[in-house]
Order: sequence, then C-alpha cells, then structure tokens
Amino acid sequence: MLTVRPTAEMAGISKSLILNGKTIGFVPTMGYLHEGHTSLIDRARTENDIVVVSIFVNPTQFGPNEDLDKYPRNLKRDKSILEKHNVDILFLPIETEMYPDGFSTSVEVKGLTEGLCGAKRPGHFKGVTTVVSKLFNILKPNKAYFGKKDFQQLKVIERMVRDLNYDIEIVGCPIVREKDGLAKSSRNTYLSKNERIAATCLFKSLKKARSAIEGGNNSAKEISNLIRSYLESIPEVRRIDYIEIVNPNTLKPVESIENGTLIAIAAFIGNTRLIDNYVVGEEL
Ligand code: AMP
Repeated sequence: MLTVRPTAEMAGISKSLILNGKTIGFVPTMGYLHEGHTSLIDRARTENDIVVVSIFVNPTQFGPNEDLDKYPRNLKRDKSILEKHNVDILFLPIETEMYPDGFSTSVEVKGLTEGLCGAKRPGHFKGVTTVVSKLFNILKPNKAYFGKKDFQQLKVIERMVRDLNYDIEIVGCPIVREKDGLAKSSRNTYLSKNERIAATCLFKSLKKARSAIEGGNNSAKEISNLIRSYLESIPEVRRIDYIEIVNPNTLKPVESIENGTLIAIAAFIGNTRLIDNYVVGEEL
C-alpha cells in the first residue's frame, strides 16, 4: 500500500491512473477504522481497479464544543487494517494544505441539512461537503462509498454530486453493527463499560419501533413517543438529541409511516453522542 500525503502528489497519481484507464473507488474516513469502514472498502475493492482510502479528521466539521481534540487516532493500527483489506493507496491530507491561509470557499447543501444532525450540529455538513468536494477534486474517483449509518450525510453528498455535476457514482452501504446491535462507530471507544452495555438502547428502541410498525401502527407521533419513552427509561441516556421520522429523500417529517420512511435518532450516552437509524422495510 502506498501512503501519500501531499495533495499535488495524490492528484498526480490519480491523473496518471485515469490516463491508464484505471477505475478509482474512494472511501473517505476519519480513521480509527472498524468493520463499518472495512465494509465500504471491501465493496470498493470488488468494483474498482484501484481503491483509495483517505484518513483526515476534518476540523471544519466539528463544532467548538465537540470532540475534535479527543477524536481517537491510531495510524499504525489503521494501516495494518487497510493492508489486510488490499487497499492500494492511503491518502493522508495535510491540514495546512487542505486549509491554507486565506482559505475562504465553502460548499453548502441547503434544505437537506436543516433538520436532524444539521439542526443540532450547526456548520457540520458545510464542513463535510466542503472537504468531500475537495477530496473529489483531488482524486477524481469513479465511485465513492458512504455508510447509511450517517444517512443524512449520504443524502447530502448525493445532492451535492447531482447539483455540482460531479461525475461520481455515490454508493450507499448498509450499517454494520456489533453482535448486540450497537452500530459500529469510532466514538464507541469513548463509552465506559456500563455505557457500552446501555448503548444498545438505540438499536433496541428502533427494534421496538419496527415491531410496532409491523403490528400495524403507522403513526409517526406514536412511534416517536414509543422510542422516547424507552430511551428515557435508560439511566445512561443523558439526553435525547432528536428522534425524527422523515421522508428519506426530503428528510422532512412525515405524519404517517410507510415503507422507506427513515427513523433517525441521536442521543447522548453519558457524554458520548451516538446516532442510529432504521429505514422501514429494510434490514435492521
Ligand atoms: P467516519 O470515519 O466516521 O467519518 O466514517 C467514514 C465512513 O464510514 C462514512 O461514510 C460512514 O457512514 C461510514 N461508517 C461509519 N460507521 C459505519 C457503520 N457502522 N456501518 C457502515 N458504515 C459506517
């Protein structure tokens, strides 16, 4: 595996790969890799000649009181995971090259970013779309892979690619979970032993919602209340950030649940903010 840091070098390598007729599959990450990330990488491996993974803890997508400084990092471990999954190129952007003095341009998707995490993390998606747009311009991949765990992010990136005419196919990949149902996340490492056990409540609340929906309840209000009262019964849930039941394309709230409706939740388990979601009718 080749590790590349300078942006110009990465862009040059991509250019020559493309000239040689190679297809490039790209998986952007913030590192501290787990099986959620490797599911994206494995999918990319089967669909492209060259697989590029980036690791960049992008400062502009973190709010002032968020976990940028303590975000987990372990490059040595990440590299060995990437080698095992036959990644061709690891791109490690240099922060001062990504955001040089005088950096003053951003990419912002309106509408889709107003609710859910966008409402709770002001500026987050602007940071995401700006950095992903830069990475797309540097790498010019044929396909880029994103997890449905960050459902809103996936939708926002799809919209950016459509609106700005990027010739890139966005591939959405299923949520990978721990055996007990907790969605894999680099942030799970923040959890204490008790919190880790309690954290399955997000998944469990979605399962309860699924049973109620399968039992014939399609009222968004009632399903939302069911999720809320279950989460509120768990002492480790310090705060529910949101429980949203929305149309999966517009991300606007719906009153009545049907196949394809997105149920998305964000909650603080102790001091750790976790997210999870369920698309009605799909696998949970
Ligand atoms: P991150 O490193 O958290 O920015 O995540 C990088 C990519 O991996 C994003 O597209 C995430 O949606 C995806 N991802 C993270 N966790 C999971 C998971 N548990 N299942 C599937 N994809 C995931």
